[in-house]
Amino acid sequence: MTVLTVLEVPNILLSQTADDVVDFDDSLNDFVTDLFDTMHAYKGIGLAAPQVGVLKRLFVCEYDNNCLVCINPTLEVYGDELESEEGCLSIPNILATVTRYSGVNVSAYDINGDLFTQSFDGMMAVVIQHENDHLNGVLITHDSLKTRYHSG
Ligand SMILES: [Zn+2]
Repeated sequence: MTVLTVLEVPNILLSQTADDVVDFDDSLNDFVTDLFDTMHAYKGIGLAAPQVGVLKRLFVCEYDNNCLVCINPTLEVYGDELESEEGCLSIPNILATVTRYSGVNVSAYDINGDLFTQSFDGMMAVVIQHENDHLNGVLITHDSLKTRYHSG
């Protein structure tokens, strides 16, 4: 089991746009395993590659019985806007209220390089939107999310 170090603000790597994953090989497989190990160790429900300093477009999340790996994802949001109070492993002790959508349709590659499309609502939809933001260097404290935040 490998627990990677989760970067915390301020760190320039957290505000970069990540690059597409190109090689679906053993090292990608190992990295995804490390991401899950790290997310579990930090007791998170989602973790994006840039949070461990790897500027690639992939994230993992796990909530209830949903366990998801999204590589090179594209998101289409739908449904109602909602106010979501969120924390982030990269921003300790802060909770931010951000605007999310109640549903999200995800197209992404899985660990084998196969494209899938799946819809999520509820908590998974929110986690996916949060993690996908990390791939674009957007944190919950970013102006674009019109946050109001406070110590948690
Ligand atoms: Zn985060």
